[in-house]
Amino acid sequence: MAVVDPLAPTGSGAVVGAGPYGRAVLEVLLPRRCAVCAAPGSALCGPCTSRLPPAPDREPPVGLDDCWALLAYDGETPRLVAELKFRNHRDVLSPVSRALAHFVTGSPSAVNSVTWAPTSTRRRRRRGFDQAELLARGIGGRASTPVTGVLERVSAGAQTGADRDHRLLGPAFRATAPVAGHVVVVDDVWTTGATLSAAAATLREAGATRVSGLVLAVRP
Ligand SMILES: [Zn+2]
Repeated sequence: MAVVDPLAPTGSGAVVGAGPYGRAVLEVLLPRRCAVCAAPGSALCGPCTSRLPPAPDREPPVGLDDCWALLAYDGETPRLVAELKFRNHRDVLSPVSRALAHFVTGSPSAVNSVTWAPTSTRRRRRRGFDQAELLARGIGGRASTPVTGVLERVSAGAQTGADRDHRLLGPAFRATAPVAGHVVVVDDVWTTGATLSAAAATLREAGATRVSGLVLAVRP
């Protein structure tokens, strides 16, 4: 009688993670829990998804042709954003990116590239990741649209002369490469719109002919 050792490779070329046993091991290492209610099973459970408030209509921030938002920053949304932002709940990126990618693929004006408004370097260093970049990469991948990181934050200390006048209006950016056509700029939350406006102005200077914002949530 053959004794089957579940830990033994099942054949030449067997890799960790292959087959039901490997998947079971990964489930233990990476248990999936709902980002909102922590119920096990999926990154965002059905009941929580159905309770998330849809984004209200809002005029786009100055300098943007349009601004697409998925959710209102209300109800359970702040919790979802916090999971994404501070606890690095990367599982939640997949369903969120998939939903946001529909705005890119459904745009009446074809989108040439997706970029993001970078988080300040200090905050990024503390967290080890930039949630806006993760969202942009997830969205671009789902929408089969090129993702380019062309925006760089100009630190407040580095702003002199004319830049000083804009400091109170929001962050300032510079472009590290030219862009063309319709560019979508991704951010997690649209509050005053100052960040998106600053990003849009820089993208236009860098060559964009149309700029759309794309955010996970908008403050009503
Ligand atoms: Zn849930």
